[in-house]
Amino acid sequence: MKIGTKLIHNGHETDPHTGALSVPIYQVSTFAQESLDHFGKYDYARSGNPTREALEETVAQLESGTHGFAFASGMAAISSTLLLFSPGDHLVVCEDVYGGTFRVLTSLFSRLGIETTFVDATSLAAIEAALRPETRGLFLETPSNPLLKITDLVGVAKLARERGILTLVDNTFMTPYFQRPLELGCDIVLHSGTKFLNGHSDVICGFAVVRDAELAKRLRFVQNAFGAILGPQDSWLVLRGLKTLKVRMEESQRGAMAVANWLTSQAQVTEVFYPGLPGHPGHDVHARQASGPGAVLSFKLASVDVTRRLLEGSRLAAFAVSLGGVESILSYPAKMSHAAMPPHEREARGVTDTLVRLSVGLEEAEDLIADLDRAMNG
Ligand SMILES: *Cc1c(COP(=O)(O)O)cnc(C)c1O
Repeated sequence: MKIGTKLIHNGHETDPHTGALSVPIYQVSTFAQESLDHFGKYDYARSGNPTREALEETVAQLESGTHGFAFASGMAAISSTLLLFSPGDHLVVCEDVYGGTFRVLTSLFSRLGIETTFVDATSLAAIEAALRPETRGLFLETPSNPLLKITDLVGVAKLARERGILTLVDNTFMTPYFQRPLELGCDIVLHSGTKFLNGHSDVICGFAVVRDAELAKRLRFVQNAFGAILGPQDSWLVLRGLKTLKVRMEESQRGAMAVANWLTSQAQVTEVFYPGLPGHPGHDVHARQASGPGAVLSFKLASVDVTRRLLEGSRLAAFAVSLGGVESILSYPAKMSHAAMPPHEREARGVTDTLVRLSVGLEEAEDLIADLDRAMNG
């Protein structure tokens, strides 16, 4: 079955008790047990809740995994998963990783004795050169945030597997609709489900998905022990949002392609970063491992003045943190997603004061382009 069908038919399309065409919201914290000797499948809702479980199974199927875990946020999913590592372990991480991931690695996990080296992950040689005998994990985003750099996932997974290193991929930008890292040999897929998976800018949530039973056991232990779980109401909203993932991703991508092409012809735009453009350095690698370039792009403007005009003047695109909603969102990485990064680190990674990120929503591309044109060119 193709993923567009799996979004609708995944074993959770009807409630087995009533035939309802929607998973019930089990708003409950505990479950009555029948006997002293035999506890039922559910005992306490931190350990398991049927609504959350339906969502976890759905996301796992979409990512071609066997086990999914839902968390209270993308950062909760990432941080809980990083708890698989121990003091003395070393991680290699792509240098333009999400700012929150950078922060948790460099200010929290570093304190717990887990060391990180940041590398330009577009180069397998750079990744290999950063490996140490104690390297236990590679953490990647492709396309990366906010410069849309591409990492060769098949190449990395092979390199890591030969050395017994786990490959973790934050798949937030692509979603399983366009890219499924587990199928490419990676070990753990992570998500900020807050973005495209839920898709309606109304839930904060995160996911981890694996296909290895032993890894699943360890992650289930962390999820239950650490306890950063997703609640049933939010789980239900994400189940609902997921049903339209295909149409949202296809339509937003169509808009993103149109906007990217338009931006390349603009005098005030000095650089456009979008893996759908043939000139993008990662275009071919991306086309091999994903079925589309997605709906997020970024670009650099001629001056801070134009940058301000655009961000403050657009009426259709919200000027906001986040991405992946039905509405287009313009963000300013220097003061938003990468605010947690020291300015010199940020500039060194190309996240300058004239860089803007655009997540294209479901507006008509023509209207969006006219709006950006008016804001930018007056
Ligand atoms: C937003 C985001 C996160 C963090 O997710 P939250 O749901 O905000 O905690 C992690 N990675 C990427 C790529 C993101 O865009």
